[in-house]
Amino acid sequence: MNSPRLLLVIPCYNEQEILHLTYAELCRYYAEIKDRGLVAQDSKLCLVNDGSRDKTWEIIEELCAKDENVIGVKLSRNFGHQSAIMAGLEKNMDDFDCFITIDADLQDDINAITGMIEKYREGARIVYGVRSDRRSDSWFKRFTAEGFYTIMQKMGVPVVFNHADFRLMDKRVLQELGNFREINLFLRGVVPLIGFKNEKVFYSRLERQAGESKYPLSKMLLFAWNGITSFSTFPMRLVLYFGFFNFFVAMLIVGYILFSYLVGYTVPGWTSTMLPITFFSGSNMMALGLIGEYIGKIYEEVKGRPRYIIEKVVNE
Ligand code: UDP
Ligand code: MG
Repeated sequence: MNSPRLLLVIPCYNEQEILHLTYAELCRYYAEIKDRGLVAQDSKLCLVNDGSRDKTWEIIEELCAKDENVIGVKLSRNFGHQSAIMAGLEKNMDDFDCFITIDADLQDDINAITGMIEKYREGARIVYGVRSDRRSDSWFKRFTAEGFYTIMQKMGVPVVFNHADFRLMDKRVLQELGNFREINLFLRGVVPLIGFKNEKVFYSRLERQAGESKYPLSKMLLFAWNGITSFSTFPMRLVLYFGFFNFFVAMLIVGYILFSYLVGYTVPGWTSTMLPITFFSGSNMMALGLIGEYIGKIYEEVKGRPRYIIEKVVNE
């Protein structure tokens, strides 16, 4: 097999503190694997600016000017991590054999790339980077991440445990990925649905090298919630079960009321009026809210809006 042409795709949102370092590290690493013939000489780097409000784009343009192996893609605004990845991938789909997506903050160990390419050369079309240890994460992040992957799996979404968006895909997989048109694209859930031969490469997650996380708690929870509700109608079924349960309880209460009436034991009671009202209106609200959530999803999807808008490409 000839050395494959590899494209590294890196979504960047307000990453001015780290971009130079990331570029330097990746360049050094690229030189090494190109020398060893692991990847083709014309393998490149694609930096996608996801509507950063700092100097990220200026830095990307600077890097593009001095290195023709850097492709700069500028989105017209912030579209989010997943869309930024898709923009970088789809824009360059025809020019490369395989693609690796990696975060800008060097938290994913770049040395795992070698293993990914080897697995690819042995025939895998998808290679997942899996964190074998999360010592660098806070206990809170570890706890919520564990919960998230467990819930996803229990609901039948085939997520790969402890795998984020550090993965290799080949051109064929990318073409198929293009057929998943949802705007709320959740790559960790979608990619395993594509099938084909896949492998895992393990690495330990490092500390963010500079700057701070672009996923504060609120954004992280929203991401998890989107992941769950775009992939499974299980929460809706839970509401159905809950509805059945409510109905059963309501019948018991009706029985009690009738019994009280028949034996002439009707004390005007505040508790017995308020309790069911509160309980049932509460559960109704919950059910409606959840249904609303799915209707909202349908609403977003039927609009068929673009996932991202590319404003400019440098070194195309
Ligand atoms: N990112 C992005 N758009 C966003 C948020 C994040 O492109 O709206 C990028 C960010 O620059 C980084 C990657 O997505 O390269 C992962 O973000 P981060 O490291 O902040 O997330 P964490 O590792 O803390 O989960
Ligand atoms: Mg990070």
